[in-house]
Amino acid sequence: MTQHVVVVGASLAGLRACETLRQEGFDGPLTLVGAENEIPYDRPPLSKKVLSGEWDVDQIRLRKADEFQSIDLQLRLGVRAEALDTGARTLALADGSTLSYDGLIVATGAAPRRLPGQPDLDGVVVLRTLGDSLALRGRLGEGVHVVVIGAGFIGLEVAATARQRGCRVTVLEGLPAPLIRGLGAEMGAAAATVHGRNGVDLRCGVQVAGIEAGADGARVAGVRLADGELVACDVVVVGIGVAPATEWLQGSGLTVRDGIVCDASLQAGVPGVYAAGDCARWPNAVFAGHDDEEMRVEHWTNAAEQGAAAAGNLLAELRGQAPTPFVSVPFFWSDQFDSRIQFIGRAHGGDDVHVFAGELGGKFAALYGWQGRLRGVLGLSMPRMVMPFRALLAEQASWDAALEKAAVLAAGLTAG
Ligand code: FAD
Ligand code: NAP
Repeated sequence: MTQHVVVVGASLAGLRACETLRQEGFDGPLTLVGAENEIPYDRPPLSKKVLSGEWDVDQIRLRKADEFQSIDLQLRLGVRAEALDTGARTLALADGSTLSYDGLIVATGAAPRRLPGQPDLDGVVVLRTLGDSLALRGRLGEGVHVVVIGAGFIGLEVAATARQRGCRVTVLEGLPAPLIRGLGAEMGAAAATVHGRNGVDLRCGVQVAGIEAGADGARVAGVRLADGELVACDVVVVGIGVAPATEWLQGSGLTVRDGIVCDASLQAGVPGVYAAGDCARWPNAVFAGHDDEEMRVEHWTNAAEQGAAAAGNLLAELRGQAPTPFVSVPFFWSDQFDSRIQFIGRAHGGDDVHVFAGELGGKFAALYGWQGRLRGVLGLSMPRMVMPFRALLAEQASWDAALEKAAVLAAGLTAG
């Protein structure tokens, strides 16, 4: 019997899922549904080389238009999935059509959060899509004052690119340093040094009261802080995190709790339905026993790997075979000015941090540990100090084993 697989979300995780289905021999009809009217593209350059103007749109397509034929896809772009009926195995799309499926992969990613009461003014923007990046790129230029709200990944990468484009840049962050919740105070201080050195006015520990319009009521005038100060500007970039794009699943029977709750194989608790990428939450056996063993990861490598893994497990289910748990050591990078942050593993506020190579003011590498176990490794412009820990993280190595390895690597660095 011919089975129909539908993938919702035409970005990294969704496309990798489709490619894997074909590579693993699925020869039934395959439909990829995407809300954006765009051939799938890569998001990391949106805050870096596309925003700076160095790259064209053509350079970030995940596949060229004529390369889709080989995966024999029914591409339904520019149409949002609006509802899922897991009992009937149907999807309702925004154009009024219905799709039946035998297998479904949900890869709808995440969407930017908004500030409470955030006004829709000319000059107030977010950055998630190609359209957002091109629109922001058109606003940047010599002397333009950009205020970035939120010193997370978007905030810091946009700040770096905007400075490189000659803008004046102010970053507003509520916590005492950037990236603190994700990577801890040490990395936050290091990122602050990099941005300070490059002329970004990074203002931490400030509360934003609101965004205000100019006299015409249509264009942004500035950002009002809780202490009454108005930070006047031309552009406001709101980079205060994302929420998984799961509202459309209300009433579907899937469990949604800051992401689609999946089992270890990425199955979303209902036969034939899997999730992957920024929208998926799953128990990662690498971190068994840690306080965040069930996790959702908002980075590129995870989306690519999970798209492939979800497809493999859906196929196994359709063929009556056993699934393979998705077990992964997360990884991400972030480019800011001439610095590259790389992180492998997990981090949270309560971790022990040990700098084992370099110095906090410049290039360095650090171990992150929790309750006697290694949790993560960070490098600031030290690429060769990060990846060698992948195996130790995968085997849940002890903090002592990590310290030993770090000492060997640091000695090699000094000798070299
Ligand atoms: P997404 O890329 O969010 O794609 C989901 C797709 O689903 C979207 O096209 C959306 O329109 C569509 N969709 C949503 N709802 C529906 C619906 N109801 N029906 C149909 N379609 C729907 N990660 C790194 O590791 N390193 C980096 O340097 C880095 N830089 C980044 C820079 C920027 C500007 C951004 C925004 C992200 C960056 N990331 C980076 C994160 C990385 O890009 C994401 O983790 C990745 O894109 C997630 O892929 P995804 O396929 O799960 O979701
Ligand atoms: P993020 O990395 O989660 O950071 C959000 C930042 O905004 C945090 O510093 C947060 O501080 C701050 N914030 C939250 N509410 C705020 C408020 N009301 N006022 C001021 N600051 C506030 O999210 P993001 O930077 O918006 O990035 C969006 C997504 O893109 C994420 O999934 C991210 O992983 C992804 N991305 C990844 C990369 C990369 O991997 N290199 C690059 C760009 C984007 P608190 O901690 O205090 O909440």
